[in-house]
Amino acid sequence: MKGRQSSFVFIKLLVIQSVAALSVARDFDFFYFVQQWPASYCDTKRSCCYPTTGKPAEDFSIHGLWPNYDDGTYPSNCDSDNLFDQSEISDLTERLQKEWPTLACPSGDGYKFWQHEWDKHGTCSENVLNQHSYFQKALDLKSKANLLEALSRSGIRPNGKYYSLDSIKEAIQGALRVSPYIECNVDPSGNHQLYQVYLCVDSSATDFMECPVMPHGRRCGSKIEFPSFSDSDSIGEDYVEEL
Ligand code: 5GP
Ligand code: 5GP
Repeated sequence: MKGRQSSFVFIKLLVIQSVAALSVARDFDFFYFVQQWPASYCDTKRSCCYPTTGKPAEDFSIHGLWPNYDDGTYPSNCDSDNLFDQSEISDLTERLQKEWPTLACPSGDGYKFWQHEWDKHGTCSENVLNQHSYFQKALDLKSKANLLEALSRSGIRPNGKYYSLDSIKEAIQGALRVSPYIECNVDPSGNHQLYQVYLCVDSSATDFMECPVMPHGRRCGSKIEFPSFSDSDSIGEDYVEEL
């Protein structure tokens, strides 16, 4: 009887311990830091609209910083009590407009895009980063990655030419010491274009790391176009605002 009682107590302790461990478990394992190439975003059938603050520079821009689990799944919309508050990032607005511009139609000043990204993804890392540090970290990661410079050092430039997928991956891997995931889109003529670059980042949003799992974005052909953004002045070419 005594033996039975002590094993019961032991099991109870084990259960209490596992519940405690679960409650301090991290909310996510790593981030995908995703940057988009504006010319490719615009060169789709849906086209794009430049922000109200003007045409963005010819550079990669931030799409998002997304908490993810090692098994490839991810949390979203984690806290409806901590929704986007633009007053918290007023000191970052100018940099965000430059580095995290919105290209969706109709034209906007960026707040709607940042709000979407914070509410959907940012709230899932709120135990590590508050709203201000979430946006600050994303800006810091963009400077640290400096993708355009990394590609350019390998002779890969946004000039409408085709480059091998491997040469693009190698240029980024050579500069950042981690493997990127390259996502392509298809323009109206059926050409594969360099669309988004995913980099994995540790759970404090500080260092790039090898991806525990690769994302499922649209794959590329072996040769992909790197379209120019400085040549394209066509804003919302195919976009007709609904009245
Ligand atoms: P899409 O279907 O265009 O690839 O993705 C739509 C949206 O789903 C993304 O913009 C992002 O908000 C979310 N998403 C897609 N794939 C992932 C992923 O692997 N991890 C995370 N955290 N979010 C993703
Ligand atoms: P996600 O795909 O990250 O879940 O959602 C992106 C949302 O932000 C979509 O509703 C999209 O219309 C909007 N959005 C606004 N500007 C941009 C932009 O420049 N790029 C992307 N990918 N989405 C944008």
